[in-house]
Amino acid sequence: MTLIFYIKQASYIICLLALSHYADIVLSLEAIHKNISLRCITDNLTHICLGIISWLIVCSYDSSSTTHVYQSLLCGLFAGLVDLDHFLMAKSLKFKDAISLSSRPPFHNTTFVAMFAISLILVMHFKGNELFENIGWYILVAAISHHLRDAQRRGLWLWPWRTRPLNYTNYLILTYLFPLAIGSLLKVLNKNTLKGKKQDVLFV
Ligand SMILES: [Zn+2]
Repeated sequence: MTLIFYIKQASYIICLLALSHYADIVLSLEAIHKNISLRCITDNLTHICLGIISWLIVCSYDSSSTTHVYQSLLCGLFAGLVDLDHFLMAKSLKFKDAISLSSRPPFHNTTFVAMFAISLILVMHFKGNELFENIGWYILVAAISHHLRDAQRRGLWLWPWRTRPLNYTNYLILTYLFPLAIGSLLKVLNKNTLKGKKQDVLFV
């Protein structure tokens, strides 16, 4: 491992700490807390930013490239889309209805989403469909990043079990270590996260 690798890791850890800390401060502001729409938008933007940082951590084993930035934006988008299930389950586009559900919506079921992503990766790998295999990796990293942040309030939904809410330290450690582990797995599997062309953004 080079010095640049360790500098990147230190930067990503600082970004995770700063983002989580300041997002919580913004969300606790009275003006944001009282306004359901602003609260939901701020919370979702935080998920998107965490998804972006998570994919940058996945790519941290390779030399930096603009393709990694595009890949990270895509991962951030997937992390934000997880909350769509609130609206699907509420059958309404209103924020008030979306956050007033009597049970947790399906995309927040960690067992279900992880099984789906891993199945997609495996099936598409053996079918030789690299595009959908890679989408599976994005979904996995994005959804786990999203679930870990939500787990501070409600725990992880590891169906058929539920964990207790994660404390802040465990949340930060897992949010950093999970994408780091995925990055090292992709390295072992010889999946190159470094591609030069913009059209390769979906390829890991
Ligand atoms: Zn959520």
